[in-house]
Amino acid sequence: MMDKQYDVIVVGAGPAGSIAAYYIAGGGYSVLVLDKKQEIGTPKRCAEGINLNGLESFDLEINPKWAVNGITGAVCYSPSGKAVKADFESTSGYVLERKIFEKHLATRAIKKGARYMVKTNARGLIKENGAIKGVRAEHMGDELELRARIVLAADGVDSKIARDAGLNTKNNLKDYHCGFQYEMAGLNLMEEDKLHLYFGEKIAPKGYVWIFPKGDSVANVGIGILGLLSDDGVRAKDYLDDFIKTHPEIFEGASPIEMNSGGIPVGAPIDDMVADGLMVVGDAAHQVNPIHGGGISLAMEAGRIAGEVACSALNADDVSRDSLSLYQKRWEKEFNPKLKKLLKLRAFLEEVTDKEFEMFAETLSGKDIIRLTESKYNFFIKILGRKAPHMAPLAKKFLNK
Ligand SMILES: Cc1cc2nc3c(=O)[nH]c(=O)nc-3n(C[C@H](O)[C@H](O)[C@H](O)COP(=O)(O)OP(=O)(O)OC[C@H]3O[C@@H](n4cnc5c(N)ncnc54)[C@H](O)[C@@H]3O)c2cc1C
Repeated sequence: MMDKQYDVIVVGAGPAGSIAAYYIAGGGYSVLVLDKKQEIGTPKRCAEGINLNGLESFDLEINPKWAVNGITGAVCYSPSGKAVKADFESTSGYVLERKIFEKHLATRAIKKGARYMVKTNARGLIKENGAIKGVRAEHMGDELELRARIVLAADGVDSKIARDAGLNTKNNLKDYHCGFQYEMAGLNLMEEDKLHLYFGEKIAPKGYVWIFPKGDSVANVGIGILGLLSDDGVRAKDYLDDFIKTHPEIFEGASPIEMNSGGIPVGAPIDDMVADGLMVVGDAAHQVNPIHGGGISLAMEAGRIAGEVACSALNADDVSRDSLSLYQKRWEKEFNPKLKKLLKLRAFLEEVTDKEFEMFAETLSGKDIIRLTESKYNFFIKILGRKAPHMAPLAKKFLNK
């Protein structure tokens, strides 16, 4: 039987929630994590790619049970198929088995003292005289009142908990990628140690198709496009099916072994991440890289900061908005400047035509592409000045400081 009063209740056992729980339990505070899924991490809604840095900074010892395929770089393909390769030569990231990875993160938190409940749907906040006192939840037909001094909304892109506290976590379609994906087996991939990314108006308008290999001919094959439908009224799934059909050299003989879909918030993080007794972390706070839609490591970073701030607030016996806003301040100082620059690059790329993409593929090296994803634009503005002067106004609008 679960205790009914906790220092912190975390809604959502994804990467944000389980990392937060690890730090809160490690700080000596009681923490209960709820997830509506009956199995943590399943079904996944993710292509499972993560940078090595994103794992190392959490002291996560790489384990082949969940870090299933080492990645040494990426290949970007122009609309006509020209490949530009960024090669790190040594392992720079992994494709995960997220179902196992998320259980591993939960196991680490539980070993520190966190408690978990699965198949437990948080319905809303308990409020008394306007103050947040915990979470109302449903578990296998039972209605529960679970009390806590702080609630952490780590409930992902469709977050409802933070909205119940009056925070605006709404997704706007202009900043929302619709993702659709198959995990497929039997692929004929030349390089299984690279992430493969395909661009083009007909391939994935204002987005891209990805193939993230998991080894042994298996890969996540997916697509993200801006909004629910393209301007032509076509769904993400239709673009992906078309891509698969038109690339028999990769897909002949391959079949799906899983299918999943989900939204990706690719705009800026939300304006207000805290309220009295409440913090929002991860996808729920739109803490995602707007260029590639990766959010696992940013969710973990947010979970760590929120967990540390929760401990300080509990220690000071002050869970007010003011006290918890240290989380938002730390987040904004560390991550917002780079995310804001990447958001501008996203806006720039959404205006680029296929012809211009071809020019990029002719001109840019793999290292250049890495520099762009690190939000270093000066060299690129110079290249555009030389090769595509007609793009200068666009570059000036989006890429200058
Ligand atoms: C198609 C696709 C591909 C992606 N590929 C990548 C990638 O390759 N690399 C990468 O870094 N990122 C990727 N992402 C993004 C990544 O999956 C998210 O950024 C990441 O999962 C965010 O972690 P989180 O903990 O904030 O939320 P989530 O992982 O979404 O976890 C939220 C949890 O909250 C639970 N929950 C929700 N509501 C309730 C409730 N009311 N009560 C109880 N529990 C609840 C959910 O069941 C879920 O377990 C992808 C996303 C999509 C959709």
